Amino acid sequence: MELETLSIRLLRDAVSELQHGFARLPPLEAEAPDSARFASILGETARRMQNNLPYFHPLYAGQMLKPPHPVARAAYAMATWINPNNHALDGGRASSEMEKEAVAEIAAMFGWQTHLGHLTGGGTMANLEALWMAGQLYPGKAILASSQSHYTHERISAVLKLPFDKVAADSSGRMDVTALESRLQRGDVGCVVATLGTTGFGAVDPLPEILRLRDQYGFRVHADCAYGGYFTLADNLNAPARAAYDALPQVDSIVVDPHKHGLQPYGCGCILFRDPSLGTHYRHDSPFTYFSSAELHLGEISLECSRPGASAVALWATQRLLPLVRGGEFADSLSTCRRAALAMAEHVRANRKFILTVQPELDIVVWAVRAESASEASSLAQRVFDEAAKNDLHLALIRVPAELLPELTPDQPTVLCLRSVLMKPEHEAWLPEILDRLSKAVEAAEKPLQ
Ligand SMILES: *Cc1c(COP(=O)(O)O)cnc(C)c1O
Repeated sequence: MELETLSIRLLRDAVSELQHGFARLPPLEAEAPDSARFASILGETARRMQNNLPYFHPLYAGQMLKPPHPVARAAYAMATWINPNNHALDGGRASSEMEKEAVAEIAAMFGWQTHLGHLTGGGTMANLEALWMAGQLYPGKAILASSQSHYTHERISAVLKLPFDKVAADSSGRMDVTALESRLQRGDVGCVVATLGTTGFGAVDPLPEILRLRDQYGFRVHADCAYGGYFTLADNLNAPARAAYDALPQVDSIVVDPHKHGLQPYGCGCILFRDPSLGTHYRHDSPFTYFSSAELHLGEISLECSRPGASAVALWATQRLLPLVRGGEFADSLSTCRRAALAMAEHVRANRKFILTVQPELDIVVWAVRAESASEASSLAQRVFDEAAKNDLHLALIRVPAELLPELTPDQPTVLCLRSVLMKPEHEAWLPEILDRLSKAVEAAEKPLQ
């Protein structure tokens, strides 16, 4: 196994290109790091970093972890020689422009020709801005999200001091619209969060039905697409998921995480609002921010102040290489991940040792190890997880409500299940190897029981 290092040469060329832009400045003695100490500390750092699971390798098929594209890595590193701050144009002129362009491309992917939006530190901060806006427009009204939504919504609502309620999920892991409607009848709801791609199952909430209820009850619809947003480009979604993605242009706000499926290093989320005039809610009168021109400074439409221009540079470069268009190379890579998940789900379904929880809607597969009871299935799942890891196959674990697995005696409220996020396109080609190691792990897990 070798890590990709070819881009280091390209990075060196890019840094030379960058310095041409500053050639007329008087020379500055480059601060020569004490090279022996530098090298030894860097080596020590690399050894410390060996204590990680191989997130970049297809045999890592556990949590939502995907390596950044080499062009993102190189562009990010190159930008750190300037270290721009995208708070104000004065601190990051080029990178602020690149952020506006890259974010407009993401908005266009969702069908919005105009928008208000920017990059954030991640999905949590982006969702915080969406719910904060809901609180600005519907002060004191409740936020609703499904029981399968990300736990961040409940916590963010507490931070914003907005009431929060969970809506039940159905047996597919999607928001139950009947439960939603009966909660709406209380009349105190300001915003419903629709998750397109839940973190656990990758389930897609029924957005068209939620939007119909919006017409009737009047609330904001926020789409949390932190994980699943880019799947709008895939060509092999099931019909309900396709309908949900096709309804996205009608929501009020969207969150997507370029640092999940968008090939970016961590620290890159994105918030989009459909109505550009909402920007006035961010108004502040900082005495020290250097808003020097009439042009839009991103700090005027963001809750975070300093933000890494390098994130925007990396995203912009990645989208130049891999445009966010249907039928393109990037879109194909998402369809490939989904195909891998469908094939894995088929294998799980056909194997009498497993029980598939829900049919995958994106590229996440969740399954139980068959046993008599919820507790036995849970301890078996833990053992399979451990045995697989010993053989370098890294899966994830998830607690699933026992109602989703009626085959098991419900002697406890949840069942520990195995979960695999197949978010690297290479997972498709590696699936036979993954399945082989999985069956060996099951054999090993069963042994002590006999
Ligand atoms: C990951 C995720 C979040 C949280 O985003 P971070 O980038 O981890 O802060 C929120 N919602 C969903 C659906 C997610 O998958």
